[in-house]
Amino acid sequence: MSMLQPPSTFEFPFPPYDIQEAFMRNLFHTLQEKKLGIFESPTGTGKSLSLICGALTWLRDYNKFYKDELEKKIAEAEEATKADDGPDWFSAATKRQAIQVEFQKSKVEYQNLLKQEERIASLKTRRQAVKRATVKKVDDEFDQLFKDIQEVQQSVQRELQAVSGENDLTNDDYELLLEDYHSDDDDCWEKKNNEDEEQDCLKIYFCSRTHSQLSQFVREVQKTIFSEETRVVSLASRQNLCINEAVLRLNNSSMVNDRCLELQRGKQNTKSHMDGIVTKKKKTSSGCPFYKQSPLDTFTDQILLEVQDIEQLVTQGKKMKKCPYYGTRQAIKDAQLVVLPYNTLLHKGTREACGIKLKDNIVIVDEAHNLLETIANIHSVLLGHAQLAGAHAQLNHYMNRYGKKLTPSNLLYIKQIIFFISALIKVITSGGKEKKQPSCVMTVPKFLCNTYTDNLNFFKILQYIEKSKIALKLHGFSQKYEPSVQMPASETTKQQSKTSSFLAKMAQPKNSKVPEETPAPVSEKATDENEEYVSGSPLMQITEFMRALLGASVDGRVVIQVGSTPRKSTIKYLLLNPASHFHDIVHKARAVIVAGGTMQPMSEFREQLFITAGAPANRIHEFSCGHVVPGEQLMAITLSHGPTNTLLEFTYQKREDPRMLDELGRVLVNVCTAVPGGIVCFLPSYDYEDKVFTYFQKTGVIQRLSGKKKVFREPKKTNQLDAVLSDYAKTVRLCSTSNTGITGSLLLSVVGGKMSEGINFSDNLGRCVIMVGLPYPNTQSPELKEKMEYLNKNVKVGPDGRLPGQVFYENLCFKSVNQSIGRAIRHRNDYASILLLDQRYERPQSVKALPGWISKHINHCNKFGSAFALMRKFFAGKKSQL
Ligand code: SF4
Repeated sequence: MSMLQPPSTFEFPFPPYDIQEAFMRNLFHTLQEKKLGIFESPTGTGKSLSLICGALTWLRDYNKFYKDELEKKIAEAEEATKADDGPDWFSAATKRQAIQVEFQKSKVEYQNLLKQEERIASLKTRRQAVKRATVKKVDDEFDQLFKDIQEVQQSVQRELQAVSGENDLTNDDYELLLEDYHSDDDDCWEKKNNEDEEQDCLKIYFCSRTHSQLSQFVREVQKTIFSEETRVVSLASRQNLCINEAVLRLNNSSMVNDRCLELQRGKQNTKSHMDGIVTKKKKTSSGCPFYKQSPLDTFTDQILLEVQDIEQLVTQGKKMKKCPYYGTRQAIKDAQLVVLPYNTLLHKGTREACGIKLKDNIVIVDEAHNLLETIANIHSVLLGHAQLAGAHAQLNHYMNRYGKKLTPSNLLYIKQIIFFISALIKVITSGGKEKKQPSCVMTVPKFLCNTYTDNLNFFKILQYIEKSKIALKLHGFSQKYEPSVQMPASETTKQQSKTSSFLAKMAQPKNSKVPEETPAPVSEKATDENEEYVSGSPLMQITEFMRALLGASVDGRVVIQVGSTPRKSTIKYLLLNPASHFHDIVHKARAVIVAGGTMQPMSEFREQLFITAGAPANRIHEFSCGHVVPGEQLMAITLSHGPTNTLLEFTYQKREDPRMLDELGRVLVNVCTAVPGGIVCFLPSYDYEDKVFTYFQKTGVIQRLSGKKKVFREPKKTNQLDAVLSDYAKTVRLCSTSNTGITGSLLLSVVGGKMSEGINFSDNLGRCVIMVGLPYPNTQSPELKEKMEYLNKNVKVGPDGRLPGQVFYENLCFKSVNQSIGRAIRHRNDYASILLLDQRYERPQSVKALPGWISKHINHCNKFGSAFALMRKFFAGKKSQL
């Protein structure tokens, strides 16, 4: 077979820069040669457009090339069978047989291709027919449907009210009652994904972290020539795509899922036998009105023939009164570009439920800088005491209330769940079987043995939870009875789960007094992290924990943290080897691309992702391009000494030393006089930021800084973020035209906090990014220790002789640094300075860990004077260019 070559020029909305051209060419080769690519392209270099144009050019060219090749092969085989055998008839017959086999194979592939083309052609015809139809006709078509919809929606509403306890139906408790359960039932509505089904068209799966990133990507596709010819579908969760208000009101993704599935199944007229009483249940729903198979087809056509993002799909779904969730899933089969969130791709169960077929398709993961951590997080489950106590109380109360009416099989499973939860509560409050420890890590078998839960059949219990919908029923149950509970009036109990508090009370036997749990005082500095909200049924998260234990391999651990109060205690299933969940992707997909703005150190993706997932080293291709911004628009400095020649070393032991804090204050005051506009100063933690700010207030540094910049602090609460950012930007804008002497804003920010990712400090908003110290994670963390130990045992030592655990630890630090300093310089005409404060930044391995476009322009200054002079000159030069 001849080789497919990249075109001489790529289709791009404007003439591409050299680095964009190189990016697309490398991408084309990686896809063609079935490789695994690690691609780095700094923010502001048009990475998304390069990905779109490079990948879609390959897809278009490959489809044409593949069809031509098949036609050529079939023609050649036909020709060969006609040829004269000659004297050596035996070898000629053997050859002819081989050609026949090849011929048949090519013919089947070719016919598959023709079938696909036919499907697409008829889709286009249908679409044209729809377009020709008048709006009136379309409306008429749906009028009848919508009458049904409203009727059924009212029924859905009534049912939902019953479940949530909003009305006073005399038999509403029956709605909360579990139906008879037989473990051998297998009426799973969700179709199982079958990789061997009829081959769909060649696809590119593009995934990114957030819905806004995916929408942004789709908008970029819309700008290119490929939007006319590529069939694109955006996937999202039911919570994002559902248009049934009654279901959406549940406001919890698991419950929206369950509710939707329940609606599709509909409730049958069933007879339940409860202690000899035969109760006939009425049919309470007839499916979601927005999900009707045949009208969905026209919606699916619409989805495939017009590139739309999630918001546009929802609008379209509402207009056509059709479910966007099922419409998009139905469109996957004929789509060429499937845009989907991380979870849908990376979680096997979700992937299969969605019908994502990896085999021979392309996978592109964007914003992949934290991919390993993301995979680990998706497959790790954290449970707090409140959730456990809540679920325990909920189930007990449920049993107390309905016990006599529940079938033995239901009771058996509920008791097993309660037993499991009790064991978890016991272990997190006591620290383990033998002695009280603040924290401990154990393997899954050891944990099961220690908690005496090793004889539970998790498979059967999970099957029961799923089929009986017990989590949804319990949620309805708690909603129904919650108002009758007297909640402590004080606002100070806000952080305690309302549900758990209620449930703890309800769990007590009748007439018994609930022991008052003294609420812990809430710190004025409460962060989002220590505010605990339990939404939906706490049983859902416990179900996930059980599922993790069931699927656990040797790479899973259970981490128990015993807090000073039960509420601060947690238990976590921790996945140590994320690559195990990337194995199928690496082995089934034709090619895989992981791309990001800062992918350093690439060795981590190579070793811990691809190689550990079983890929051969020669299948991996690395590509890193520079910035579109020329070197003279960046001033990157490492500084080892402050203005009074104090060595800058912000280690955990030294960083609170008053001499160090004084020196930091002097650096900041000086930098604020030299740099115009906005400055973002990153500190290693919220705690340290707090200490620095308090010290600066006490010593008058804040006052001195305020003479040059308005000082802002990163808020700890997410809901205050917008206000701070908008004030910060407003000050920068106003100061550029005023003569107050204040030249902009200074933002004290936190590495890994809310400002260190996803927020752009472009142009005047970020003329300087300062990094104070190296944000190494806490080595005392049991999770980190376990992970490092695991890597030391399972990953080979690198060429520099450092242990893999140590490399991982260093990488965690530098990935945070790179994310933070990447906030500035966001486009070709932008310019900024980066100041790295700590003598450890001078080490060669530190410089190597920085993105290439920064490290190659780095200036090492061991005197503050020289750094200051470089900065002054840099900004003076920029001023003169204005
Ligand atoms: S079918 Fe669609 S619109 Fe209806 S409940 Fe399910 S997700 Fe929502």
